[in-house]
Amino acid sequence: MDIHNTAEDIVFNTVETIFAAIQKEGNPEKFCLCDQCRMDTCCYALNRIEPRYMNSNRGMNRMEMEQLKRQQTEADIATLVYKGLRLVNHNQRPTGHDSPTVVNDEMPKPAFDIPTIVGRLFDGITFAPLADVTVSLHCNSVLVAMRNHNWQNPYTLVANAPGAFTFWPAAISADALDIHKSFEFTLKIEAPAYETITHFFKIPVVSRLQMSSSLSGDRSFKLPDLYMFPPGEVPGQRGIDDSKQPDL
Ligand SMILES: [Zn+2]
Repeated sequence: MDIHNTAEDIVFNTVETIFAAIQKEGNPEKFCLCDQCRMDTCCYALNRIEPRYMNSNRGMNRMEMEQLKRQQTEADIATLVYKGLRLVNHNQRPTGHDSPTVVNDEMPKPAFDIPTIVGRLFDGITFAPLADVTVSLHCNSVLVAMRNHNWQNPYTLVANAPGAFTFWPAAISADALDIHKSFEFTLKIEAPAYETITHFFKIPVVSRLQMSSSLSGDRSFKLPDLYMFPPGEVPGQRGIDDSKQPDL
């Protein structure tokens, strides 16, 4: 699957523009503008807007671009970016990352760079996107660690981006380059008024050199749409987990 979340392009561009503008004005509010804060600001905004997927093999035409802009106005995203930047600056880590450019002397190490995992969640009867649902991501029965503190696991779907959830797991160190490995994940989805869903999936990843400050989030792994049903209304589990029926 080669799917791209175009909301990422818009957010990354907006962050670049705003950070450049702040720098040009002499940074009067003394924001930390290091790569880490830049990435954290991107994550903050991306977690709060609706993702927009397209097939990367097909270019986006002008009309689609216009439509995208109408749905998520640039002003909204700029507001989110500013909000994120302020929050990120209040959450600064204790060890000095507040110098304007962080130089990481560490040698890049081989790692499995897990893509962002994105999904959508709907009511199986009304098809309405859901909020106030808790989604947790597990690997080998353990909660998966996220890339940084802006990503939550478990994550509770919020009302201003109903139905959408995204995880960005931390990279996992590898023994060597070019190792092909399939990671098995379990998604557990819980809400008081619905039957709990457990969804299994695998992501194949090839180990490569991990770049400390790269915004490598241009790869997304998109899950099939998931539907929740009230207890007793699950229609024979169809469409949820039918590939997992054991062969007797
Ligand atoms: Zn910083």
